[in-house]
Amino acid sequence: MWLGVVTIFPDLVKAMFKEGVVGRAIERGDISFETINPRDYPLNSYGSVDDRPFGGGPGMVLAAEPLAACVQAARERVRPRTLKTALLSPQGTRFSQSLATKLSQLDALLLVAGRYEGVDERFITNYVDLEISIGDYVLSGGELAASVVVDVIGRYIEGTVNNPESIECESFTDDLLDCPQYTRPRVFEGVEVPEVLLSGDHRAVERWRHQQRIEKTWKRRPDLLVQRVNKETESAELRDCVLNAQPANLETVEEESLCEITK
Ligand code: SAM
Repeated sequence: MWLGVVTIFPDLVKAMFKEGVVGRAIERGDISFETINPRDYPLNSYGSVDDRPFGGGPGMVLAAEPLAACVQAARERVRPRTLKTALLSPQGTRFSQSLATKLSQLDALLLVAGRYEGVDERFITNYVDLEISIGDYVLSGGELAASVVVDVIGRYIEGTVNNPESIECESFTDDLLDCPQYTRPRVFEGVEVPEVLLSGDHRAVERWRHQQRIEKTWKRRPDLLVQRVNKETESAELRDCVLNAQPANLETVEEESLCEITK
């Protein structure tokens, strides 16, 4: 897959992929990764890529022309493959594991990192296929968000993760959170590793892990578990149990975790 990032700060994004599994996949050539800088297509001889907003107001806006030129350059580079373009924006579709798996099926994806007050709306209308938000907060620029998207998509590209099993069973796969993990020593500060993990009984270990995933998800993300049982993935017994329970109150779950951290 070809992944590109349009950014006025290419070093910020490149630094993220100097190490780690995605960085190694880029180095091996399993992922083709490039950055494209709007400053290579400036508005004037001073190298400007932004301008004041029409109508007044604070800050600057990234102009449409340099961004459009970056998309055209990316189309040239990936030809004959089809390029899809996504703008990182707090106003976009919320990024998720399932969106990442869908995007990882594309041949070529260009991510556009905004800056300042944002980007000229006409660039979005004419060149952007999808806007992606990584959460309900405002970052100072799209580089971190683009790096998050590259990292998550990168893990789904064949060859990136050494053991494919590790992405088949982790948080959000099958609408469940992951189970607790343990390594040596057997006792740490008086806390023992659960007995079943030392039993050598693989079926018992699997049963325990599945149960732990369900319990953890119910406690922390009841919305996911409701989604799971609605897909009829679980036994009728668990389905009845979840659907007959008090309506999942996410606010309470969030408030409880905030209480823990501010104690
Ligand atoms: N004025 C914009 C608004 O309120 O929607 C925010 C602009 S923000 C300071 C600058 C850039 O950071 C955005 O154009 C976008 O590329 C990126 N950005 C900020 N928050 C983001 C988020 N939650 N998800 C994805 N990108 C984000």
